[in-house]
Amino acid sequence: MVDLYGLVEPLQSWLFETAILPVLYTLGESALADEVFDATGIILLGLLSIVVTFLLIRPLEAWIPVERWRNRRALRVDALYTLLEKSGLLPISFFLLLVPLWLPAQAWLHANGMTPWQLEELIPRLQTSPFLAFLAYALLLDFFEYWRHRWQHRFNWWWGLHSIHHSQQQMSFWCDSRNHLLDGLIQTVWLTAIAMAIGIQGSQFVGLVILMQLVESMSHVNARVSYGWFGERLIVSPRFHRVHHGIGEEQEGRNRGCNFAVLFPLWDILLGTARFDVEPGATGIRDQQQGAYYGEGFWEQQRVGLWRMLGLPVANHPTH
Ligand SMILES: [Zn+2]
Ligand SMILES: [Zn+2]
Repeated sequence: MVDLYGLVEPLQSWLFETAILPVLYTLGESALADEVFDATGIILLGLLSIVVTFLLIRPLEAWIPVERWRNRRALRVDALYTLLEKSGLLPISFFLLLVPLWLPAQAWLHANGMTPWQLEELIPRLQTSPFLAFLAYALLLDFFEYWRHRWQHRFNWWWGLHSIHHSQQQMSFWCDSRNHLLDGLIQTVWLTAIAMAIGIQGSQFVGLVILMQLVESMSHVNARVSYGWFGERLIVSPRFHRVHHGIGEEQEGRNRGCNFAVLFPLWDILLGTARFDVEPGATGIRDQQQGAYYGEGFWEQQRVGLWRMLGLPVANHPTH
């Protein structure tokens, strides 16, 4: 496997020594040097992942787009979400904000003699194959992500937050990170609690998050890409996820949507929510056609998402 960390390390050291450490000394915070050094690495790795994603995926959008747009202004806010999320700035902030929650939770588990059950102990075969162990954790984590996503559509308060993600009518690979901040905070609690409960090791967890982010960026791409009959059922594809974003799929029907999985369509197939029979059409939310407003700028979207979550009235689009 390519040592990504080895790629950013020289830059990390240079940036840290020339720009960040002097600032820390000036602020009298040199005791934090180790943590800030690690955070610098995470942020650089995140920025590198944006560049790699852009170089790999953007050409597809230019080459075989599903939709052609006259103007790409609506995508700018999604690029901002991507920068905030993939740089690690938001995930690190969420994690730090939640530190007061983790420490008592760990202490409580410890005091009650509860240790996380390890998949490798249940299935000894996994101990000898790191690849199979990684796959098993990916399947399990994806199962929990499937339910989190399904409930984002099922519960109206949660849909208020998640509707910000669906309100993009020009869906491109940037759209992946377009999520309400509170939704990001809930996801951090959810994923960390699951990782703690099922005993995912730190390095496996980072690998899983990188895999999820790559598949998710790809699944929002505005390009006519199909993985073939089998591939479409094996891994979430742009086609599969575009159907999820289709107008009318947001909260309508018995399951209030379809194709909820992040990595593996298997969960949708087993739980009866997979749809392979429809052609992806226009994306967005049905009431946008009647002028419903979900905000255009970052802060406006944050406000509108919160208002919708709380059931407060939101005025229609100013231009309608
Ligand atoms: Zn959704
Ligand atoms: Zn999406």
